[in-house]
Amino acid sequence: KTGFGAAKVIGELMKNGILANINQQIDYETAQIIADDFGVKIRKKRGELSAEDVFTGNLEALLKEDDPAMLQPRPPIVVVMGHVDHGKTKLLDCIRETDVVSREAGGITQHIGAYQVEKNGKKITFLDTPGHEAFTAMRARGARVTDIAVLVVAADEGVKPQTVEALQHAQEAKVPIIVAINKIDKEDAQPDRVKGELGEYGLVPEEWGGKTIMAAVSALTGQGIPHLLEMILLTAEMENLRANPTREAVGTVIEANLSPNLGPIATVIVNTGTLHVTDNFVVGSLFGRVKVMKDYTGKTTASAGPSMPVLIAGMPITPQSGDILHVVNNEHIARQQALNVMTLREADLLKKRGVGEIISQISSGQLKQLKLVLKADTKGSLEALKQSIAQIKNENVGVKIILSGVGNITESDVMMAAASGGIVMGFHSVVSPQVKKIAERENIEVLNYTIIYNLLDDIKKILTGLLEPEIVENILGRAELKKIFLTEKKELIIGCKVVKWYIENKTKVRIFRGDQIVGEGLITSLKSFDKQAHEVSEGNECGIRYEGFLPLQEGDILESYKIEKRIRTL
Ligand code: GDP
Repeated sequence: KTGFGAAKVIGELMKNGILANINQQIDYETAQIIADDFGVKIRKKRGELSAEDVFTGNLEALLKEDDPAMLQPRPPIVVVMGHVDHGKTKLLDCIRETDVVSREAGGITQHIGAYQVEKNGKKITFLDTPGHEAFTAMRARGARVTDIAVLVVAADEGVKPQTVEALQHAQEAKVPIIVAINKIDKEDAQPDRVKGELGEYGLVPEEWGGKTIMAAVSALTGQGIPHLLEMILLTAEMENLRANPTREAVGTVIEANLSPNLGPIATVIVNTGTLHVTDNFVVGSLFGRVKVMKDYTGKTTASAGPSMPVLIAGMPITPQSGDILHVVNNEHIARQQALNVMTLREADLLKKRGVGEIISQISSGQLKQLKLVLKADTKGSLEALKQSIAQIKNENVGVKIILSGVGNITESDVMMAAASGGIVMGFHSVVSPQVKKIAERENIEVLNYTIIYNLLDDIKKILTGLLEPEIVENILGRAELKKIFLTEKKELIIGCKVVKWYIENKTKVRIFRGDQIVGEGLITSLKSFDKQAHEVSEGNECGIRYEGFLPLQEGDILESYKIEKRIRTL
């Protein structure tokens, strides 16, 4: 490629004291010296991304840049959070309307989950789904897409429970917070009271000697909005947000659904690189090719650079929000990578998180801090618990309350624990069946107590590794084998009917013949009506890809069960 023959290169190497033959590989640094001597510019080829990094959403590894000289400033990605009715939606609408760019383009903005505005010639990307729920759900999937959180607090109402919850979520994610004190047009607005209340949570305004930027705004009249945008840009500058627009794109899925005319579509925010139409990509365990790409105004676009949100079509099914998308050279690599991620995902589903895992990590010294989501029935008992927990002393491991509040244990609490690798403890709290189900799905144990002493005692035991998890077997249900199929790849597929409770994908099964146990196996894939299913309930038929004890017979009963580590509570 350089036009210099092998003899010349070998000669040049020799001059530099390196004896190399024609079949030898030389390292990059050496190559660079020789290339310099020839007056040739070379660039290091980026290594392939590992499936582990893609699967765990390890953006940091994915964004690793070989050449810092290629990095350029990129727009900040901003999420708006706060208590209900404090004006999050109104603020997002108001900001969108101040945008000259979209007005000139006809003012029609499509809802794709994010939009961009321009201020002083610089762009800002806003996530259009207000609230911390989506933010934390994505974080639980391993994605870190937001750069800045705008915490909306109504000046007439002040700090409310969800304000605190939102700021705890942002702080735990280490995302810088800008406070928007909203509704200052109202007569009973008391911005100074809000500032005072926020001080309790470590947010002190700059004018009072603190570090937090607080902007007074009215989403109704538009007052203060330009200033807020300037503050966002200032924060972005201080955060030194950079990306390389010339490389192949890496992005994060923030929304996905099925479009009647385009099929599966996803909104992707580009983290680095530039995404082009016709690019081959891997997203989660899927692969595809960008067939259609639109920006937030609904206009077709051929490419999208760093921090730009785009809607894309070209995947076989919808990915999950939080999935990482990355562009690869060709379809062959895409297929292989997707397969690797799928294998990891399946293996992970068989693995357990939860208290048992946390205890073993503490015991082995891997974990130095127990992260706790704490809920109690009253403010009094919550304060008492917090004080007692603060007094728990342990040489090796600390306790950090990452989220606390009064009331029921919610989905948001569970997702916070999932996102941070923590546990949820409740005192006289109610856990709805819906929340239990989510906790089960996320493998997060929710521990509820009626006696303070027991709660504190369990924390101490977790810290010292003394809390022995009980190994319990959880029988999910039974299915009767109706028919055996052998696919081309010599995989065993069996047709079954669920006869008791339900059976679940990726679980172990015991094979009963009559009342004798004849063997054990594993459900590696579960289908209901030709669609992949997580579980199939009583009375329904299903197709199972099975591995394990053979030969099976029609009429065999498969008992699906899970082995779980639980610590005794309740
Ligand atoms: P969200 O639940 O946080 O998304 O709150 P909304 O954006 O839906 O706003 C709740 C209510 O407050 C709506 O009736 C808004 O019109 C009103 N509102 C929002 N911002 C302002 C403001 O700056 N001033 C006044 N007076 N009302 C506002």
